[in-house]
Amino acid sequence: MGRRFTKEMYGMKKYIFSMGLMFGLLLAAAQPFSPAQAHFMTSAEEREIGAAAAERTEEKYDVAWDDDIVEIQKRLIECNPTQLNWNDGRHTRWLAPMKLYHSDHPNAFMLRGGYSYMADSMVNFMNTYQNDGYTNSNNLRPMNRSNIYNTSSVAFVMGHEFGHWAGKDHLEGYDKQFGLNLLVGIFGGQAGSVGGALAQSAGVNLVDTLIDRQMSFNQEKGADEWGIKFLENVPEYSTGGALTKFYRFMKLEEIRYPDGKRPKNFRNPHPETQKRFDRVADYIKKSSNGRVGVNSYGNVFLDRVHLDIPSRMDVADVERSFYIAGQIAAAIKKDIFHRENISVVAPSESRYGYDPNIPRMSYVVFSSKDGSEVKILDLIAYDKTRSYEENLNSSIYGKAEIKMMDQIIGLMEEYDRTHPRRR
Ligand SMILES: [Zn+2]
Repeated sequence: MGRRFTKEMYGMKKYIFSMGLMFGLLLAAAQPFSPAQAHFMTSAEEREIGAAAAERTEEKYDVAWDDDIVEIQKRLIECNPTQLNWNDGRHTRWLAPMKLYHSDHPNAFMLRGGYSYMADSMVNFMNTYQNDGYTNSNNLRPMNRSNIYNTSSVAFVMGHEFGHWAGKDHLEGYDKQFGLNLLVGIFGGQAGSVGGALAQSAGVNLVDTLIDRQMSFNQEKGADEWGIKFLENVPEYSTGGALTKFYRFMKLEEIRYPDGKRPKNFRNPHPETQKRFDRVADYIKKSSNGRVGVNSYGNVFLDRVHLDIPSRMDVADVERSFYIAGQIAAAIKKDIFHRENISVVAPSESRYGYDPNIPRMSYVVFSSKDGSEVKILDLIAYDKTRSYEENLNSSIYGKAEIKMMDQIIGLMEEYDRTHPRRR
């Protein structure tokens, strides 16, 4: 089964490329004017100002490359070829590799021109095991490979920032709010600009001001939408990663502001965390034709039945529930949530979430016949080299994991039985 799966996967690369090319051509034909004409700034100007801002940022913070962060960016770009790209010689706008910066405030930002940064504390907050709003830096999970749950959350933070870039939010924002002269004034360090004076009187660093002030609520909402759509197209990333991110921030806010009142902070225009959570949950519901429900207590429902999702050593309970909710919804949307689409794949043989070091685990994978659509439903404690019965009795987890899969697959088959498809 693993072999067949691998063969299908190889067929996929070509398909994605040609589809990407086709969509690109369609988009180009559909657009009445080029982006450069739509805004008064060219891509080159945008990048020049972005590069200057990136320089300022790197003077202010300790900045570092990180292989894992670059790997996540690589996955987001290769699975979203019509929206995201590197500097590949074919595009006038491109994303620079995202860098980490050292800060105790878990944050991330996109400068114009595709230069983006994520705080190390944000990465750690997503990688920590517990879901209680704290970070235990002695107990962090690595990213990538089979670490699909926390990697999804980091990927969402990244996807949100890439959404600001893909949505051309800086171009829109500066056009409306600042104008080029004011911007140059700020970067040139000249006194007298309204934005600069405001920022100085508020004691706010100019770099921070430029990072946060420029985004409107609508742009933040839009960036969340871009972010979850980017995740949806990566087989091993779940939109549930967004739910986990917001869940953890809600817990963090409970710790910081136990009375529920948060300071009105003009530097943080992100819509309230609960609302952002609810919007992702709403997206999951709608994209699954109303079949997948998820709430901020970590409960997941498929066809109105509560799913019994067990915790495991390597994954905290709500995080796993959110992951599965997002993946079921995406599989339904891609019309691959059917019996004939399921396979069980050893991580050592998987093209996605490849990991040779966990022989006792398996991915439950949904894929289309031609391999063009793939979603990993979950990583379960199931050793493919052993029989079903052996797995059932071999580990303390085995029974609960198989029971969970039986429940999900049972509901899936029941739905398909009662909703015959037109072929
Ligand atoms: Zn944002």
